[in-house]
Amino acid sequence: MRKKVIAANWKMNGTLEQANSLLDAFAAAPLNVNENKIAVFAVPAPYLMLAKEKLSGNPYLQVAAQNCYSKKSGAYTGEISVEILKSIGINYVVLGHSERREYFGESNAFLAEKVNISLEYGITPIFCCGEPLEIREAETQNAFVAKQLEESLFHLSAEEISKIIIAYEPIWAIGTGKTASNEQAQEMHLSIRAVLAAKYGDVANEIPILYGGSVKASSAVALFAEPDVDGGLVGGASLVADEFIKIINA
Ligand code: PEP
Repeated sequence: MRKKVIAANWKMNGTLEQANSLLDAFAAAPLNVNENKIAVFAVPAPYLMLAKEKLSGNPYLQVAAQNCYSKKSGAYTGEISVEILKSIGINYVVLGHSERREYFGESNAFLAEKVNISLEYGITPIFCCGEPLEIREAETQNAFVAKQLEESLFHLSAEEISKIIIAYEPIWAIGTGKTASNEQAQEMHLSIRAVLAAKYGDVANEIPILYGGSVKASSAVALFAEPDVDGGLVGGASLVADEFIKIINA
């Protein structure tokens, strides 16, 4: 049975005071999580250890870095390695978010290196893919996303890829309030699973595929009921405690 995952992406938001109060709210809330349904909090790097500490009472609440570098250590000022992340007990990392691809020029090939080093250190990548608006309008989104997966992931063995979480995030739906319809999400998730199955066979059924793009508590229940939508990657709504608690429990 593949895991259900709800991941919060705080991006570059929140002061220490706000982070404390959000984390306290999540730690205290009754959450519908268990070994098959987990929540992961991708917080800004300075709050990683705080988040670990605050959420430590519940093993199904995990903490993720929003990025990592492709090298083990060394003279890369400002970067964070998986070695550092592992040493502070972080088990997840978001890779290939469209904002990293767009503002920091991260290519599929560069992301493949980050995927490799993450897996080497036993850190689960939450690997983001998704098309911009013009690709959706040209109706070539399935091929576009397939190429992202092929170029960043398809060098992995079946065992390695079974450790990845994929997040499909249509760029036109991120932070825009415009969400893909449930049918559009399911159609793409099915296409991603078919691409994975063509290369890796049954392992495709073990890989959680999350949807991201303006998920709200009001849209979550129907969205997560789609058979190939295994949870969500949530930006804006993950910064509002009540809203995100409802999304986790959806
Ligand atoms: C995201 O940051 O990955 C995201 C999906 O943001 P939002 O939920 O705000 O659209």
